[in-house]
Amino acid sequence: MKTFQYLRPASLAEALDLLARHGPAARLVAGGTDVMVDFKKNGLEADILVSLRRLTDLRYIREGNGQVHIGGLTTLRDLERSSLVARRIPGLADAARVMASVQIRNVATVAGNICNAAPSADTAPPLLAAGTQVRLVSPAGSRDIPLDQFFTGPRKTIRRPDEILTEFVVPIPSGPYSQAFWKHARRKAMDLAMVSVAVHLELEDDLVTCRQARIAHGVAAPTPIRTPEAEERLKGKKITPELLEGIGEASCEETLCRDSIRGQAWYREEIIRVMVRRMALRALERCRMGRPA
Ligand SMILES: Cc1cc2nc3c(=O)[nH]c(=O)nc-3n(C[C@H](O)[C@H](O)[C@H](O)COP(=O)(O)OP(=O)(O)OC[C@H]3O[C@@H](n4cnc5c(N)ncnc54)[C@H](O)[C@@H]3O)c2cc1C
Repeated sequence: MKTFQYLRPASLAEALDLLARHGPAARLVAGGTDVMVDFKKNGLEADILVSLRRLTDLRYIREGNGQVHIGGLTTLRDLERSSLVARRIPGLADAARVMASVQIRNVATVAGNICNAAPSADTAPPLLAAGTQVRLVSPAGSRDIPLDQFFTGPRKTIRRPDEILTEFVVPIPSGPYSQAFWKHARRKAMDLAMVSVAVHLELEDDLVTCRQARIAHGVAAPTPIRTPEAEERLKGKKITPELLEGIGEASCEETLCRDSIRGQAWYREEIIRVMVRRMALRALERCRMGRPA
């Protein structure tokens, strides 16, 4: 295995300075659960690893100004155990529960999952469906980007090498809403998704009419994506199982599913068609039962 220098900055400013100083020779590492696999199996070349592990002030989940704020260094286990996430972003709680193993979830971070940008990143669909923005900080300042503009290809994002993802900002809708996420994999435990589906529904006070919808998929396309045309077809409509049949079909057509080693396009289409409807019904049921509050 290649040797490298391991730097442990104590602050965000120091980490940014190290990135700026060492340029492409440096690579950020948070939990290391993707980076170490890259070193061992995928021939990652980096002379310097800049660890974010000491930036503990980037590990938080809190609510304020009608938003949930999640620090980049928040672990998957933190997401899984957070009552705030369960209440406000239930689709993300669904995802955290089915990722990797407890041991991995204890160290793996949400920023690492998103910045690694694997098509199978399980936090991506629920965060996309929730309408999340990501905050990228560099020595030049910070910028907030909608997550649906973040991914540019498999393992590619718009993040510049001198930027650190510090925070996820998730809006809290003012009216009734809920979400649900489904991961379809060959095995129930410790497997990457073959396809995943997240649905976010906001309802009018009658709890039947859709005010806003967001539908996102993982793995089916080269990046995690939303299907805005299918979302649009839900807006203003009374949600019924019959309407949702058509939405599943529309979301599937918009996704342009691909074949990959994890699954074939036709199979992914079948799953999406069914799971969009089921996740929408689950979100609807959660909403009617008062989750989130
Ligand atoms: C056994 C095993 C099972 C797994 N199962 C799953 C699974 O079920 N679902 C799933 O989605 N993933 C899974 N993974 C992948 C991995 O655990 C997750 O992607 C994890 O969330 C990565 O987080 P990390 O903190 O370990 O990232 P790291 O490995 O530290 O970093 C990943 C990438 O993100 C960059 N990075 C990290 N933090 C930041 C930041 N704050 N700002 C900018 N760039 C940053 C790094 O430079 C690197 O390119 C699994 C991995 C293993 C080893």
